[in-house]
Amino acid sequence: MEEIKKYTCKCKSCNRKFDEEEFQITKDENKCILHCEKIDGWIKYQVDNDIPSIINDGGKYFWEIVLTQKMKKNDYNFSNVVFPYFYEEEIDELTHKTKESFNFFDKDEEYSFNKEVNFENAKFMSKVNFNKIIFEEKVNFTNAKFLTAINIAKAEFKKEVIFDRADFREEVIFNSTKFNSKLSFKEAIINKSFYLLQIDSAELELDFECIKLKNDVIFELYNVKIASISINGIENNANKILFNNVNIYKKLKIHYSNVNNIEFINLDLSKAKMDLVNVSLTKSIWSNVFMGEKLEDRFQYYANKDRRYLRDTFRQIKFALESQGNIIEANKFYALEMKEREKELSPKKDFFEWLVFKFHGLSSNHSQDWTLVLFWIMNINFFYSYLNTVSATLTLVFKILFSLILILVIGCMIVKIPEDDEKKRWLTTIPITMFCYFFYGYLVEKDWLLSEYSKNLNPFSIMRADEAINLGTLLYKITIAYLIYQLIVSIRQNTRRK
Ligand SMILES: [Zn+2]
Repeated sequence: MEEIKKYTCKCKSCNRKFDEEEFQITKDENKCILHCEKIDGWIKYQVDNDIPSIINDGGKYFWEIVLTQKMKKNDYNFSNVVFPYFYEEEIDELTHKTKESFNFFDKDEEYSFNKEVNFENAKFMSKVNFNKIIFEEKVNFTNAKFLTAINIAKAEFKKEVIFDRADFREEVIFNSTKFNSKLSFKEAIINKSFYLLQIDSAELELDFECIKLKNDVIFELYNVKIASISINGIENNANKILFNNVNIYKKLKIHYSNVNNIEFINLDLSKAKMDLVNVSLTKSIWSNVFMGEKLEDRFQYYANKDRRYLRDTFRQIKFALESQGNIIEANKFYALEMKEREKELSPKKDFFEWLVFKFHGLSSNHSQDWTLVLFWIMNINFFYSYLNTVSATLTLVFKILFSLILILVIGCMIVKIPEDDEKKRWLTTIPITMFCYFFYGYLVEKDWLLSEYSKNLNPFSIMRADEAINLGTLLYKITIAYLIYQLIVSIRQNTRRK
């Protein structure tokens, strides 16, 4: 004879009917075993000879109901469910067999949720164990509450996982877990600590939008290889945010956040696009951060819409690197900062400042590139020395014609050469310099050994007191003096220590 089920769960979307036996455990006529509160005393222990044993094991009943009435029917809707402790996998020391322990799956089953799983508003009273479980579809933990630690090891999430507005009272650990899509923590609260360890998931997009890191939280990513991380508008009271051995393949986004307590150790950003807007990082620590090539392009990518913050971002990174003695990397960010300043200036509004920045950028890439300065010195001197050699009036017409062509060529070079890739620039600068040398030698005839040329370039004779001077000479001398100064500064910038 089947027992009469006289109670009905009044919890939203449940309506489960349950019998007297279940009522004896829930002690609540309006809530079934899944939805009733599992407060202290819900499980009764008895201590015999110092060995505790469970006498009223509501947990066992709970998981039996989950197995038979949810899992066996492929019903993965656990919204509002209050979960008691999870059974830990235990090996019997005598028989070496797994002891009776089951949560969502019986011990011989394949640990796989083959449909979307919903834990919305669920409450986890005790340690959570999703180890080795495969989630084939989306998993939703929106608004879930974790009263004790959550440790997810060696699980696999094939679609997105959402922890939006989740409340983590204790430790959160994801260890050796595989993700194939998105892991989102929008507005989640982290009270104790958060660890992502040994994660190798090239497709994973991590999203920490508006999360709250409470006082003394440790937030750590260790041995992590993922596609992207997005940190936006976080409330950061953490003790430390640590990226240790992290490789980000696609994108690092930090918006509107104070992350002064962030430490980057062995961070590889060489392929990532960078999107940093209104970020506070002057006290951040950058140790062995591999920024890679084409830094400017990768920062520009997202900044094109709104570049107001770009210069300040460069300034802060420069400052952080400089204060840790990493002068060479800091100089790169100094050059980027100057380039941004150059873009802000308009030739109409602040002409002279614009001119100085423009000249500084074109001649030496803001004191970063001494090869560029050397190129200008050599070729401007070819040009000047050629004009300066005394000759007949007939050749003067030819000279002026030639000069105009040269000015045009130089004009084009001025625009083009500093934009070229630094590594491939040799392909244009060396042939141009050789070409100028042959042209010079051919036209001046007697100066193949460059004696006249060297006289003009000799820094100790840049300003000879006895020399007749005109405006052209003066302009030339000022330019060469400036370029020689830039050459020294640029070489120093690439090698200097403070
Ligand atoms: Zn219920």
